[in-house]
Amino acid sequence: MIVDFRSDTVTQPTPGMLNAMFEAKTGDDVYHEDETVNALEEKLANMFGMQAGLFCPSGTMTNQIAIKCLTHPLDEVICDLSSHVYQYEGGGIAFNSGASVRTLKGDRGRLTAELIEANINPHNIHHPETRLVVLENTSNRGGGSFYTLDDIEPIYHLCQLKKLSLHLDGARIFNALAETGDHAKNYGHLFDSISVCLSKGLGAPVGSVLLGSIDMIQKARRIRKVLGGGMRQAGYLAAAGIYALDNHIKRLKDDHKHARMIAETLRSSASVQNILPVDTNIVIAELDRHISAESFVDHLADHGIKCAAFGNHMVRFVTHLGIDENMIDYAVTWIKKELH
Ligand SMILES: *Cc1c(COP(=O)(O)O)cnc(C)c1O
Repeated sequence: MIVDFRSDTVTQPTPGMLNAMFEAKTGDDVYHEDETVNALEEKLANMFGMQAGLFCPSGTMTNQIAIKCLTHPLDEVICDLSSHVYQYEGGGIAFNSGASVRTLKGDRGRLTAELIEANINPHNIHHPETRLVVLENTSNRGGGSFYTLDDIEPIYHLCQLKKLSLHLDGARIFNALAETGDHAKNYGHLFDSISVCLSKGLGAPVGSVLLGSIDMIQKARRIRKVLGGGMRQAGYLAAAGIYALDNHIKRLKDDHKHARMIAETLRSSASVQNILPVDTNIVIAELDRHISAESFVDHLADHGIKCAAFGNHMVRFVTHLGIDENMIDYAVTWIKKELH
């Protein structure tokens, strides 16, 4: 048996999803003529109470386009030190937008209005102009921690007051919504733009959607073209996204339950030093000093269980729709043996 916990990006399309893709009506999306892409963009915009959407090949592209739309060169972007836009997009903020980045140490990837306010630059020529705040919900490096709408509200008000734009990297926003019970519809008015990934826990093979105002998305469409992200009969991919929204949101809580089962197993071992709180579908554990993450990963891999080493002694498990209860039982058995 292969149980792949390395990331929730490793999912394969389900038969139902493949069927939806097979039956998609498509056109040329660069001409804006692909009705399935248009339907996906409209569907997600409606869900989040925003005006328009733009289908892109990746979440890196939706984030980078948003930052490009919302900043000018010499501006500064505020985000958590662990955030994807800073750590995992290859320095794209500097490359694509010519902006500098102010990284803050939040609580497991989450910022507060106080922390942000203390890091807004004064208006004079010595400093880059603070222009944009990026939040990540859930926080990947934060171990799947989430913001509630109540947590975000004060940040929104600060941004209004200080005339800062606010972008949400919502790669796993539906995992957050599954736990908080907040409604997607109430997100739109808080953010200038939201990026939603379809290829993480939702299980689509490809794609992210950027949401924003009609004006912003028009500009974003131009930038997507410049970056080479204009796709043609992309409706086959968008159909997978629509199928994922219709069928896979309601099962995300199963992933969270499975993550807690893995966490329980790790926690009961004397070989595990520490484990981050498991709020959604990500488990990050710190192993005892005498166990290297690499050897732990290798040993589990011998039994078909794949997880990721995160530094010398940290390991990460991510649950997703490719992992069912049986696979969890199998993994729990071997993790126990490995860490007896
Ligand atoms: C995966 C991810 C993205 C987008 O990644 P792509 O691989 O470019 O689609 C963005 N933000 C976060 C937090 C992610 O986990």
